[in-house]
Amino acid sequence: MLHRFSFPTDIRVGPHVSHKLTEALTDLSVENPLVVTDSGFASLEVFGDFLKRLRSDSIKFEVFSGTQGNPCLSHVNAGRDAYRTGKHDSIVAIGGGAALDVGKAIGVAATQTHSLFEYVDEPGARAIEGELPPVVALPTTAGTGSEVGRSSVVSTDDTHEKKIIFSPKMMPRIVLVDPHLTVGLPAAVTAATGFDALTHNLEAYLTPAYNPMCSGIALEGLSMVFNNIATATEKPTDIAARTEMLMASLMGAVAFQKGLGLTHSYAHALSTVKDLHHGLANAIMVDHVMEYYLEACPEKWSTVEARLGLRPPSSAQAERPGTEFLRHLAQLKKRLGIPAGLAHLSLTENEKSSICRYTLLDVCHPSGPRAAEPESVKTLLDKVCQL
Ligand SMILES: [Zn+2]
Repeated sequence: MLHRFSFPTDIRVGPHVSHKLTEALTDLSVENPLVVTDSGFASLEVFGDFLKRLRSDSIKFEVFSGTQGNPCLSHVNAGRDAYRTGKHDSIVAIGGGAALDVGKAIGVAATQTHSLFEYVDEPGARAIEGELPPVVALPTTAGTGSEVGRSSVVSTDDTHEKKIIFSPKMMPRIVLVDPHLTVGLPAAVTAATGFDALTHNLEAYLTPAYNPMCSGIALEGLSMVFNNIATATEKPTDIAARTEMLMASLMGAVAFQKGLGLTHSYAHALSTVKDLHHGLANAIMVDHVMEYYLEACPEKWSTVEARLGLRPPSSAQAERPGTEFLRHLAQLKKRLGIPAGLAHLSLTENEKSSICRYTLLDVCHPSGPRAAEPESVKTLLDKVCQL
């Protein structure tokens, strides 16, 4: 069997590296970027400072901030029109995962002849033609890792159905990882997005797919989140912890080209049915799904615990490998204000069966280390709904 691995992004990391944007644009030989962000980030002082610096470098640019929350097709189309009208030659995407996804999708919509959804990642889709405009990405949350990803998630405007546009051409060419862009994140967002990064690394490590490069990155990324998420949440200006979280988020997204697992399938279903924040949904589900995965890969669980320096108490020597990790994960959730389960949502039976249906239809769980059957998906959801 043959395998193919790819790690091509130019990543520049460090405090205030966002001040080097002009240098990055020069390296790409572009001079008229469309700056894409979401309306929330656009209203912050840190974004005003960012633009001021661009102006003082005499960079010609325009800002598109017509997106908010889960990006929809109409947002991307408005950005496409701005890109074409301004005759831009590149995209600077700055913001959380949604803003970065919109920036990447605008690059597709602006340069292709057909509507964006004709390029959705499913059989019969059109292939993206020619080159896409270069994207420079500046993440302002540490979670999705969209800055190194080759896809964008864009919803339909009416039903909010999520569509995935996928092409290696969509990958940003340069990523500027500046911890100062994340210090203003509210604690709850730091914790929820951080749990998304934790889940990416953990699920990517546990999937049995063959990709030893990604396995190594995932294990290191997991350890970085595990050791820094509480500090980043509780001491928001800790630059070292913020840097570690941004890097771990990026590493999770590199690693999950190997695959994800059932936590993400539940999270996608919970976002569709209850509009739950993706990171929060993962945070709520992850320890319960990992308990389900405990018996599937004992050697990997031993490696995880050894890597994180976790030793079960001597009274618990006979426990399965991974049990001590699960205890720590549950404590971490509690400390960071993540609900243990879904009881607070008071899901109806109808909603629960929709969640099970969407979970089973999702593409992530088949790569997990243990199969997800309709019965087990329902049993696990029912259990989490009690907590
Ligand atoms: Zn995720």
